[in-house]
Amino acid sequence: QTAASSSRPRRGLLIVITGASGVGKGTLRERWLAGQDVFYSTSWTTREARQGERDGVDYVFVTPEAFLEKARQDGFLEHAQFVGNHYGTPTEPIEAALARGQDVVLEIEVEGAMQVKGRMGEEAVLVFIMPPSLTELRRRLTGRATETPERIEKRLARARDEITQAHAFRYVVVNDDLDRAVGELQAVQRAEHARLRPE
Ligand code: 5GP
Repeated sequence: QTAASSSRPRRGLLIVITGASGVGKGTLRERWLAGQDVFYSTSWTTREARQGERDGVDYVFVTPEAFLEKARQDGFLEHAQFVGNHYGTPTEPIEAALARGQDVVLEIEVEGAMQVKGRMGEEAVLVFIMPPSLTELRRRLTGRATETPERIEKRLARARDEITQAHAFRYVVVNDDLDRAVGELQAVQRAEHARLRPE
């Protein structure tokens, strides 16, 4: 039976965008997904909400106990620690979205993206977002003004390490020019839709 004649919707794409903190993943993702019917996965985190962040929208903000309990019950597709806090992707909403044929986008750090690769294999479309340079990354993190100098240094140290892992991902998009980078993400999504996939 071909996909076209099947009554089941074709499974959605699982697209993971990853890369260093401060590389502009969030801005890119917002621009790319504007007006699209894509399921954006809201992560759980134990970090404190920043000014203006909304619980249940930007993140689900939870206690370490609640986080670890969900991890113990295998409720996360992936989870990782990042500069002293836990972050994780709840599995259930993603599976539901993929099954009804909706594309799903995760925006997560590199260790978690590697876990998704291990767990989902070829199904996961992994995109690494590369900063134009580390100097530029430092400028962006400093400009954010929500982090202490110490935490910025920790995020930069982590970024150096993360960038060495870019080769493990299917696509690399350099975020030097926002419009061009958004165009590349759109092209990735179109190309992946055109690929033959096992049913
Ligand atoms: P921030 O504290 O700046 O919101 O996020 C810190 C890092 O954690 C960013 O690189 C962000 O993409 C990543 N992150 C956000 N949600 C998740 C998640 O569910 N899992 C993983 N592994 N990383 C996440």
